[in-house]
Amino acid sequence: MALAAAYLKKRYGARVLYLDFDAHHGDGVQECFYSDPRVMTVSFHESGRHLFPGSGFTSQTGEGEGKGYSVNLPLEPGTTDEIFLQAYDELVPPLARAFKPDVIITQNGCDAHWDDPLTHLALTISGFQELARRQHQLVHEVCGGRWLASGGGGYQAYSVVPRAWTAHTAAMADVKLDEVLPESWRQQCEQRSGAAAPRYLTRDDRTPAIDRATLDRARDAVAAGTAEIRKTVFPILGARSLSAGDAG
Ligand SMILES: [Zn+2]
Repeated sequence: MALAAAYLKKRYGARVLYLDFDAHHGDGVQECFYSDPRVMTVSFHESGRHLFPGSGFTSQTGEGEGKGYSVNLPLEPGTTDEIFLQAYDELVPPLARAFKPDVIITQNGCDAHWDDPLTHLALTISGFQELARRQHQLVHEVCGGRWLASGGGGYQAYSVVPRAWTAHTAAMADVKLDEVLPESWRQQCEQRSGAAAPRYLTRDDRTPAIDRATLDRARDAVAAGTAEIRKTVFPILGARSLSAGDAG
């Protein structure tokens, strides 16, 4: 994705917005463009206090001419669809409108899923699909639908990853798929994973129980992170938040 961004910039002089929703910090792409104001990177990820690679704090905002063009929102374990999508709404559309990209690149790792064995976030396939719908709306609003999407991390290889990227691709193509998964796929999934296969595309057969204290910590972290970004990055870009109760 870094090479794609560099190529789009060099070949077409494009302004590139890179949005990374993998559970791990998008450190590689950020590093490549840390002082470059023509490629803006935004990464939502599990906090580096809990997860590899240990970076991606709100204080990392770019350097030199690129100051304000690297945005990081660290998330706490237990972050749900609702908390994640609210953070997306508060940050991503205002930043995109202010940056005015020619093209948007999204990295849609699905390791933020609650059943992923490597991470501790708590999103669902419905959350990923909703995120894809919002990305779709945004690329049409700000850059004429020019959208390059990739997968990313995802370590529940049979029960989660194929569903996540199928749901994402469907949202990109504006196709409504059957919720009930095909029996032939379920059989293959069970053979390979040795476990019961999911029955539905976006609905989970079981969902995690998250205690109140964990949810509060996840909410507080997002509130603090978004406030910090609005204070440090928004003024540089002249971004205006459209969320309720904000005077601008
Ligand atoms: Zn990852």
